[in-house]
Amino acid sequence: MTDLSGLNPERGVVIAGRRRKGGSGLFDVDDPATGAHLAAVADGDRRDALAAVDAAAAAFDPWRRTPGRTRSEVLRRVFELMVRDADRLAGLIAAENGKSLADARGEVVYAAEFFRWFAEEAARSGGSYGPSPAGGTRTLVTERPVGVAALVTPWNFPAAMAARKIAPALAAGCTVVLKPAAETPLTAIALLDLLAEAGVPDGVVNLVPTTDPAGVVEAWLADPRVRKISFTGSTRVGQLLLRRAADRIVNASMELGGNAPFVVTEDADLEAAVDGAMVAKFRGGGQACTAANRFYVHQEVVERFTALLGARLEALAVGPASAGSDIGPLISAKAVGTVGGLVDRAVAAGAWITHRAPVPSDGYFYPPTALRLPDSASVPTTEILGTEIFGPVAPIVAWTDEDAMLRDANASELGLAAYVYAGDLARAVRIGEELEAGMIGVNRGLVSDPSAPFGGMKQSGIGREGARVGLEEFTETQYLSVDWPNGR
Ligand code: NAD
Repeated sequence: MTDLSGLNPERGVVIAGRRRKGGSGLFDVDDPATGAHLAAVADGDRRDALAAVDAAAAAFDPWRRTPGRTRSEVLRRVFELMVRDADRLAGLIAAENGKSLADARGEVVYAAEFFRWFAEEAARSGGSYGPSPAGGTRTLVTERPVGVAALVTPWNFPAAMAARKIAPALAAGCTVVLKPAAETPLTAIALLDLLAEAGVPDGVVNLVPTTDPAGVVEAWLADPRVRKISFTGSTRVGQLLLRRAADRIVNASMELGGNAPFVVTEDADLEAAVDGAMVAKFRGGGQACTAANRFYVHQEVVERFTALLGARLEALAVGPASAGSDIGPLISAKAVGTVGGLVDRAVAAGAWITHRAPVPSDGYFYPPTALRLPDSASVPTTEILGTEIFGPVAPIVAWTDEDAMLRDANASELGLAAYVYAGDLARAVRIGEELEAGMIGVNRGLVSDPSAPFGGMKQSGIGREGARVGLEEFTETQYLSVDWPNGR
């Protein structure tokens, strides 16, 4: 049973440190593993959205003038409180998102680490000073917080996606308005309580859960006080928001969809490759933007790889997190239909299912599945290779010619993550450098790391999160050209 005591989601709109009801009443959040009702949550409207900007705009000047060391210490306290409350937060994530408790705990640690990382970065000011080459002037370059930032996050990592934006924004000196996904607002509400407990001043982080994402986010993007949009979600919504942002030239960072190839060469350590594949494919039930979406396995090892992966997949315990499962449900009935449709059409076009895990009959479960595709399958001709599956399905294609395989691996318009397993590290790195993706797991099935730049190429996005560059997404550069009195 999920512990919602003290969460008070009916007053889940948070503005200037005050918990409020939503202008549109309440909406329901359900457990996708059972369909059980979890909570009624405040449904924010456009007026709430604008009130949130009022609060963030009022808090901006004092926050940006707060010394970096002080901001750093507040962020460090958030990290400590998230670690203290890790079990409770993991329980909330598992309840509203459906992922296993092990995955949920992993997410809390990952999310907390963004506060630790950006606490360290907040204390380090950027900028430079130097004489201009012609003499007579000095050039001072500084990094300033961009202003009020609108943050929009998806349901698949309710804590981590919020943390990956809030922590660098606050480290840079920005104030924020946050809109979580309507499927998973509870974790965000809990996080806001922890931010307040850590000493984040009122108004620095404001929260608007809503069932009208377009209305709330459009209100933010139309408001001249909002200077930044940082979005994580689908490429389709990212395109919409970029169009809106263009109207006011709002600074935009976009973390969008993925379609990661997972390449296995003939000399790869297959046991290690399968370990990596299990993480890259099945973490969060395959509902990760970095999820391995298509497996390109050398012809010489494809039978063995498929057998090893299939054995591991069939042993997965699929069920509600509360039952100690390895893998939970998909987020909705619609998602089950979408994933099922992709698999059914692939099979109708010549693919064959090699392995499947059993699933409970209730809840939004889809069976972990491995399927082999004909050798001729390619991104342009095969729907399941060209589509972000977002479910626990591993399509496997055999290859013999490395150049042809790489051409197909790069044929997607998405380029977020990719994985390569090869025995020869130089070859693995060479293949990695040929892959058109922002993040490459080399003999690893996990690329997410708060100290490394997370983000995609092509239609997978613009900008990076994490690392120093993640903070720079929330700053803009200003330079002062200073007349130097003695002319030198
Ligand atoms: P989504 O685009 O439907 O929703 C993301 C967010 O946008 C939610 O908060 C939603 O309420 C909001 N939204 C929806 N329509 C909107 C509109 N018209 N105007 C403004 N906001 C709107 O995506 P999703 O289904 O929640 O998440 C899955 C997608 O997110 C996948 O494509 C996945 O790859 C991507 N994702 C990317 C990353 C990354 O870092 N690149 C991380 C996680 C998820």
